[in-house]
Amino acid sequence: MITAMKEINASIITIGDELLIGQTIDTNSAFIATELNKIGIWVKRRVAIGDVKEEILDALQAESKDCQVIIITGGLGPTADDITKPTLAEYFKAKMIVDEGVLQNVKDIFTRFNRPFTERNAKQAEVPDACTVLPNKRGTAPGMWFEKEGVIYVSLPGVPHEMAGLIEDSVIPKLKEKLQLAVVIHRTLLTAGIGESFLADAIAPDFKTLPAHIKLAYLPAFGMVRLRLTVRSDNAAEAEQEVDRQFEQLTGLVKQWMVADKDIKIEEVIGSILKEKSKFMASAESCTGGYIAHLITSAPGASSSFKGSVVCYANEAKENILGVQHDTIVTHGAVSEETIREMISGVISVMNVDYAVATSGIMGPNGGTPEKPVGTVWIAVGDKDKTVAKKHFFRYDRKRNIELTAHTALNMLRLFILEAEGV
Ligand code: AMP
Ligand code: MG
Repeated sequence: MITAMKEINASIITIGDELLIGQTIDTNSAFIATELNKIGIWVKRRVAIGDVKEEILDALQAESKDCQVIIITGGLGPTADDITKPTLAEYFKAKMIVDEGVLQNVKDIFTRFNRPFTERNAKQAEVPDACTVLPNKRGTAPGMWFEKEGVIYVSLPGVPHEMAGLIEDSVIPKLKEKLQLAVVIHRTLLTAGIGESFLADAIAPDFKTLPAHIKLAYLPAFGMVRLRLTVRSDNAAEAEQEVDRQFEQLTGLVKQWMVADKDIKIEEVIGSILKEKSKFMASAESCTGGYIAHLITSAPGASSSFKGSVVCYANEAKENILGVQHDTIVTHGAVSEETIREMISGVISVMNVDYAVATSGIMGPNGGTPEKPVGTVWIAVGDKDKTVAKKHFFRYDRKRNIELTAHTALNMLRLFILEAEGV
């Protein structure tokens, strides 16, 4: 039995007016939270605030009450709007000093880029004397590490790749060295064809009352649900054993809907089945405009199973490239079973592939008719001998309709391939 251990809680404070007005999406928090989680530090809160002295001081005060680790990003630039550094000096009752190492780094960067070194840039080398400098190899603003009354504070630049470099090179190793950390293990599986509430019903009898050190999360997206099991312990071997046992039980309960027993995307699942069978696929995309191809080619190694896509948006393209009959389109319309079936046979022959997927629909907000309202989508999947076509209705905005069409199409393709290959 695993003994529950004292948690190390962290808070992430992201600073910058741009985050509050929606100009910049806070990707830093997600990255930092992922990295902290890997080493067993639980992120208790994420706080976003503007470049305002009082707000920064208040946040530091408030977060340090119940978090032992506080990671701060942003507000370290050389311009007047960035005030994190002097505010930290005030908070730690420190004075600003020039750090020679940082000064050299800033000078080197300016020399390398052949730019004049100004007074303003020299300011980047000033740090509160209460901190340990974390050298920034990717930019001019250094990271700063503070400790006060049992709490670790780390201030990092807002620029995502500089922040990420500092987290990986300095912050994580230093936290591991300083703290006695729990082991946190995540296991994720992917399901399709069942909504999260029904999935919960299927799992509930066995997973209703989990001990405090085990968590089960439902993460629905695009008609599929990811289930994540998290076990935390101070003993790596015990945690591993426990997570294996629980995960095995979970996979048993959801077997009929399971797409993968790891945290991968559906396009990667298709890629790996095809690769194993040495088969190839292609797509013929009208309403998804190449989005399916984009998803597939975003996964490394896509070339071993994907030959290409025909983005046949206009009727002319469907006819000229894929050989869809002019009459078919005139008689039945571009968004029809007849057209989508011809798109499948066309793309299979043009691309010389074993399997194909095709989409044609009305994504909105305009273009709907009473017979074919916005959100009407025909999706087909097939091989040389057989095509399965299905009409769907999606009721969201254009972007989401495209995403849902692509993911629904990929799941139809996955099921078709599994049956055809007898997997
Ligand atoms: P700063 O350190 O405040 O000068 O920020 C430098 C750059 O990093 C700006 O372009 C910001 O938009 C970006 N940035 C700041 N905070 C974040 C964040 N939390 N997530 C993503 N980008 C950010
Ligand atoms: Mg800023």
